[in-house]
Amino acid sequence: MARDYIKLKHGNPAYENYFVVNWCFFTICNFACTYCPTFLHDGKHRGLDINLVKNFCRKIIEMKPDKRVFFELTGGEITYYKHFSELMNFLKDNGADTGMISNGSRDLAFWEKHKHLIDHICLSFHPEQGDAEHFFQVVKLLNQETTVHVNIMMLPEKFDALYGLATRISSEIEGVSVAIQALFEGMSGKIFSYTDEQKNLLENPSLPMGTNILYRRATLAPKKVYRGEMKKVFSDGTEEVANPPELISKGENNWFGWKCSIGLENIVIDPGGNVLRGWCKVGGVIGNVSDENFRLPSNQVICSTKNCYCGLDIMAAKEVVVL
Ligand code: SF4
Ligand code: SF4
Repeated sequence: MARDYIKLKHGNPAYENYFVVNWCFFTICNFACTYCPTFLHDGKHRGLDINLVKNFCRKIIEMKPDKRVFFELTGGEITYYKHFSELMNFLKDNGADTGMISNGSRDLAFWEKHKHLIDHICLSFHPEQGDAEHFFQVVKLLNQETTVHVNIMMLPEKFDALYGLATRISSEIEGVSVAIQALFEGMSGKIFSYTDEQKNLLENPSLPMGTNILYRRATLAPKKVYRGEMKKVFSDGTEEVANPPELISKGENNWFGWKCSIGLENIVIDPGGNVLRGWCKVGGVIGNVSDENFRLPSNQVICSTKNCYCGLDIMAAKEVVVL
């Protein structure tokens, strides 16, 4: 039985130096994966006005003078925002760090032009429309300049080829972290139908990953990581590493009634520009990107939900309320 602990804190104190803005920017995508909910790629939200976006980003950077602000942009496929280059240059010119989740499908010339503006990129291979060789070349190119994490979306009928791609990336591109991802209908709900052998590989991947993550040649850019493992702190002061995916799979993702630092350590923004503390929605909408008088929260929130599912939400510090 799991021991009771009184705090969940960042596994690496360096993570505390960053304020994370996770922005689901719009719903334009060049792919239409069948397992992706339509509202994520229906094109209805086409991205806010660039000046509004810049004003808000500037405001957040000014409000957090003691932190480095990490803007993590998602969608849709964020590289199709019509002011993508302008926004990335603006963020870098204003001292922010930048990250994104992308399907990697833009051509090599596009990535060559933008790679110096990206501090961290999560590249997801979507097998229904993605081109494996192109994807491999994009990972290789970006890895020279920035921190790359790869997710391979494991469609059951293409499982072997996808596992081959994951193995190839992991063994041939130094310093990249690779994860194979089981698919869920509509990205939540029911897991796809996998054979026992496939399930076993998903739970215990034998990729050569990890062997090449820590050591990187000096010619490669150093790795930058903004959030990651957490640590449980027990009442006697002892600590234990806690991985967010593991906390979910073991059903240990319930901090109902605890004090939580979402809103203090991070915010999230939906495609309509609504700002929330976290994707769990605890604390409700705290403003909109267009609000002239937008203010960040100044205190923790008491958790009012029994399930904490989003990785970013889990990776905010939490502690038991002492009565
Ligand atoms: S690439 Fe991503 S956002 Fe686009 S359709 Fe596929 S899963 Fe959805
Ligand atoms: S559900 Fe929200 S408030 Fe509750 S612990 Fe998770 S992030 Fe914090």
